[in-house]
Amino acid sequence: MSFKDCSKALEYLKSYEEKDGLSAEQLMDSNIRGGLTYNDFLILPGKIDFPSSVVNLQTKITKKITLNTPFVSSPMDTVTESEMAIQMALLGGIGIIHHNCSPEQQAAMVRKVKKFENGFINSPIVVSPTTTVAEAKAMRAKFGFCGFPVTESGSLPSKLIGIVTSRDIQFIEDDTLTIAEIMTKDLVTANVGVTLSEGNEILKNTKKGKLPIIDKDGNLVSMLSRTDLMKNQSYPLASKSATTKQLLCGASIGTIDADKDRLSLMVKAGLDVVVVDSSQGNSIFQLNMIKWIKETYPDLQIIAGNVVTREQAASLIQAGCDGLRIGMGSGSICITQEVMACGRPQGTAVYNVTKFANQFGVPCMADGGIGNIGHIVKALALGASCVMMGGMLAGTTESPGEYFFQDGKRLKTYRGMGSVDAMQKTDKKGNASTSRYFSESDKVFVAQGVSGAVVDKGSINKFIPYLYNGLQHSCQDIGVRSLTELREQVDNSTIRFEFRTASAQLEGGIQNLHSYEKRLHN
Ligand code: IMP
Repeated sequence: MSFKDCSKALEYLKSYEEKDGLSAEQLMDSNIRGGLTYNDFLILPGKIDFPSSVVNLQTKITKKITLNTPFVSSPMDTVTESEMAIQMALLGGIGIIHHNCSPEQQAAMVRKVKKFENGFINSPIVVSPTTTVAEAKAMRAKFGFCGFPVTESGSLPSKLIGIVTSRDIQFIEDDTLTIAEIMTKDLVTANVGVTLSEGNEILKNTKKGKLPIIDKDGNLVSMLSRTDLMKNQSYPLASKSATTKQLLCGASIGTIDADKDRLSLMVKAGLDVVVVDSSQGNSIFQLNMIKWIKETYPDLQIIAGNVVTREQAASLIQAGCDGLRIGMGSGSICITQEVMACGRPQGTAVYNVTKFANQFGVPCMADGGIGNIGHIVKALALGASCVMMGGMLAGTTESPGEYFFQDGKRLKTYRGMGSVDAMQKTDKKGNASTSRYFSESDKVFVAQGVSGAVVDKGSINKFIPYLYNGLQHSCQDIGVRSLTELREQVDNSTIRFEFRTASAQLEGGIQNLHSYEKRLHN
């Protein structure tokens, strides 16, 4: 048998009409394979000639907003409130604050994100002059630290009159004494407007543990803490407004009339992007809402959805949205496909909608069903500009809710916004604040989601950098240096895919081990 000349292998390769594997279009031919999910295919590797650290993950989430990472946290009441939104923005993504709460509460959360200054404790725990030493000792035990500013009213905002630290209460045996009798009154403070580095300098020079920041009337506004000095990280990827330098913040609203007042409060608080939150976005309610928002707040970016077909997308694009959210029935807590018989496998939905919407310059967010880094890469390869995550971010330090223990595991609640639990939440007048499933105001709910629990994942301060590094490594394997290159090379069929049979999926998993531990990062 004669062999071909090895030194001409690359040249010989050119004689093949098609590259190995399938183009995205061939993979997604639904006449052949039906609808596909992320697990149904793989991306074939390319050539590595660069380090993963150079891979640029910058992407658009709306026509006018570009982020340094493609990560968005979902507007769910067990995922995104201000703490999550602040941390997501610091790490280069964005959080969308949920609206299963009063308009005032939601606007206050938006304000908190917009007013956030890295390193400053914006809502310090305060005590009143009449608090007893016993109570202060109990607070020290509960919070694990002691250094409580004392304000006239015992709350915020109020005039700062002292501070109580461990040293003040350490040797006091009479626990019935009040804080007013033992607090430190000789205070070193700084005025609002002080920068983080100036504040840190004051802490170093005065050897104090805490630096309260006050306004011109002496009211306590925020605080710096010596123990945080070393912990203050810098966040080079942070998502900030180019003009105000404030963190970017998103929030969701529904499609009922009351949502217009809700939105106006949030716009006043500095909202950058609104997500019109509906499980089936192609409704006359949403179309009217988009038109109204565009007329009333022309500078506010609007993400519309959810959609899974080009026809749905076309209506919303024509109504004026600046971004689209794709997914119906793919969420990890979702039973929409089972109950409504409506929806679409997420891979197919993302491919078809983005192929249409990207022609109009409308960025799309793949929402639901993201369970690992591979899913993120696949969503982006199929045309999404960013991914929205619920379950992946639930159970983190920054997600709302308290941890609880069950079967020896530390857990937090994670629930669908269409679960009976979430839909039951009403205001004082008994009105539901959401309208995502058009069932929240019904006498009999038709649930489209479940309520469950997820295991403690620690802080997203570690988790998002893990996703970021993982995504860079994946792009390196595929052979692209940026998300823009990824999209271009999928579009021109340079990047190839392979359909995964059921046994191929088994092969890709862990096999034949007696036991193992799946640790995803250190
Ligand atoms: P996950 O990231 O797979 O957990 O999915 C989160 C997404 O599921 C959200 O961003 C919503 O689009 C969607 N979702 C939230 N709550 C429900 C629900 O109750 N039923 C169906 N879908 C939901």
